[in-house]
Amino acid sequence: MAKDTQLSIKFLGSGSKGNCALINAGGRFYLFDAGLSRKKIEKGLAEERLSLSDLDGIFISHDHGDHVCGLEKILKKQKLPVITSQGTYNSLVSKGFDISEAIFLKPDREFEFDGTRFWPFSIPHDAAEPIGMRIERSGNILGIASDIGHLTPSIFAHLSDCDILCLESNYDEEMLAGCSYPFWLKSRIRGPLGHLANSGTRGILSRLKKPLKNLFLIHLSQESNTPELVLENLEIIRKIENLRETQILVALQNEPSVTVSAAAQQNKVPRVVSDTSSLSVVLKPFQQRLSTVPEFAGLIVAA
Ligand SMILES: [Zn+2]
Ligand SMILES: [Zn+2]
Repeated sequence: MAKDTQLSIKFLGSGSKGNCALINAGGRFYLFDAGLSRKKIEKGLAEERLSLSDLDGIFISHDHGDHVCGLEKILKKQKLPVITSQGTYNSLVSKGFDISEAIFLKPDREFEFDGTRFWPFSIPHDAAEPIGMRIERSGNILGIASDIGHLTPSIFAHLSDCDILCLESNYDEEMLAGCSYPFWLKSRIRGPLGHLANSGTRGILSRLKKPLKNLFLIHLSQESNTPELVLENLEIIRKIENLRETQILVALQNEPSVTVSAAAQQNKVPRVVSDTSSLSVVLKPFQQRLSTVPEFAGLIVAA
């Protein structure tokens, strides 16, 4: 990830078992969540020629393990500000996290740091005070939100005009109904403070205010979703004007994604499957690609 990139994001891993993204805002680097092991996070940073000491802070969306399980060990090795809501901070401290430096975010209150504007917003989810984030720099907008129980006017307001949108697509309804989860867990996932179904992601995508350049679908369940179903779900709305040129990427649990920059030139033919973290290249029509890729070892890109 080049230092001069204005606004970009790379997922070191994303799914129901752990989430962490690396954000570059004008040469300042942040983690968004620390839900992978420190080792994995350090490995992901090393691939970008970065280390923990190059980070300016760690945003934490909420206090669930799949978003914070690497945090303690990171903070033991490297003193970094934890940037989160007061409620999440209180919850982490009550669970024994040793946080020596914190920056508190208030939902719907903007703050600016070194030319980058951050807007945290509330997410309905069964955690202490969960937030999503809208980030603006040099006219480019990055939005990120997962663990969304249901869509709210505030979520729409923050995410409907992004250049890069990173949005949960957690489960397929049929797969969830048939999977081995106990009834209470299925109810929690489907509930108003649970997660967003594949069909729910369409709720935002069908109401975009401007053409979307890059869409990252994140936080897929390993038990009740597949990248194929996530992409099939979007076929229904692909003809919407604001989605016609969108590069769609599915972030995976065990493979880092490519880096997506809001300032980058758009590839006019971005039908790509990559089986490594580098963006190389199988060009195939969308449906054909789905049927000819036996497993999704890396990042999936379609547009
Ligand atoms: Zn959660
Ligand atoms: Zn989660």
